[in-house]
Amino acid sequence: MIKKTSVLLLISMILFFTNVSCACAQMVMYNTKTGKIHSLNCKWAKKCTVNCVKIDKKEALKRGGVPCKVCGSI
Ligand SMILES: [Zn+2]
Repeated sequence: MIKKTSVLLLISMILFFTNVSCACAQMVMYNTKTGKIHSLNCKWAKKCTVNCVKIDKKEALKRGGVPCKVCGSI
């Protein structure tokens, strides 16, 4: 027998995690050295391990990031 409160808790947890993976927060690889923004599956993003950080695209643009010419980062 499951209590009503635990069901509600489960639903709110599911809603919380769905919001976290919302498409509005698009994660990109941002090269802090060159200022290039790569999509996560870009070949350059995979090569870039030292200077790249995985951040939200909006945040990368805020930092003055420029979309990569190879992947377009979008
Ligand atoms: Zn790229």
